[in-house]
Amino acid sequence: MRTLRHVADLRAELAQARRNGESVGLVPTMGALHDGHLALIDRARAENDVVVVSVFVNPTQFRPGEDLDRYPRQLERDTELAAARGADLVFAPEADEVYRPGHATMVSVSGVSETLCGHPSRRGREHFDGVATVVTKLLNMAQPDRAYFGQKDAQQLAVITRLAQDLDLPVEIVPCPTVREPDGLAMSSRNVYLSADERERALGLWRALQAAGASVAGGERNPAAVLAAAGAQLDALDEVEYFEIVDPATMQPVERIGGPVLAAIAARCGGTRLIDNLLLVPAPVPANTVDGLDGLSASTTNPAPQGVAV
Ligand code: AMP
Repeated sequence: MRTLRHVADLRAELAQARRNGESVGLVPTMGALHDGHLALIDRARAENDVVVVSVFVNPTQFRPGEDLDRYPRQLERDTELAAARGADLVFAPEADEVYRPGHATMVSVSGVSETLCGHPSRRGREHFDGVATVVTKLLNMAQPDRAYFGQKDAQQLAVITRLAQDLDLPVEIVPCPTVREPDGLAMSSRNVYLSADERERALGLWRALQAAGASVAGGERNPAAVLAAAGAQLDALDEVEYFEIVDPATMQPVERIGGPVLAAIAARCGGTRLIDNLLLVPAPVPANTVDGLDGLSASTTNPAPQGVAV
């Protein structure tokens, strides 16, 4: 396992691998690795000859006043963890290696970047411009066959999926399920900020998502009613930025739950901003049911979700 600091070294290393006919998998991270990241590395290890883990706290995706300066940085530990999971390379550039003097280009994905976390009243689409820019650069630097992203950051995944399609990037974007603590809290590098009391209250996010799932499983198809039924679970949080039900690809609100939808939450717990989400998949209508309005048989097509069925 080698740790590389420079783009030129990464390119040289991977050019050799490609000459040998080896496939490359990239796992982009901001470090402070936990089991969620390690699951991405495991998946990349299983599907590629060479696995690259990038560790880069990307300044352009932090908004003014956010935790850029205190974001946990522990490269030595991250390197050991990545090596133990079989990664071949850790790519850990300095900020001025990624954003060289005179850098003036940003990648911006409209629509999907503008709701939820990207809403102007919250982090704003500039956050996702920073994500889209650094991911485009990392994909160009490593030119992987596959790149691995967690559904924990479902909107980020949707932005990256859109940008890879729109820019014809020759890479497979591989979504990976959210890894949770035993009690359900989604793993996050920011969980270390939580006090014991906040850690307990943070569980409200998962409880609200489960309650939304139970509501849909019980037959509710009106998003407002689903959110109303589940919202009380968020009472222990300090501030709920949003709790919404959206289309999983476009991140736009849905008027009715007619297929898989994403329930997504952002909330503050003490000084920490937490996000979580759950894919809700309504049960298909039984094959022999006849739609009373137009007399057609209801579809038996199961939308084959990648997330959690309820
Ligand atoms: P980060 O270091 O937080 O930027 O995350 C790097 C990658 O790990 C992103 O693709 C995240 O979506 C993914 N990730 C973070 N937390 C989890 C988790 N709990 N389960 C699965 N993937 C995760």
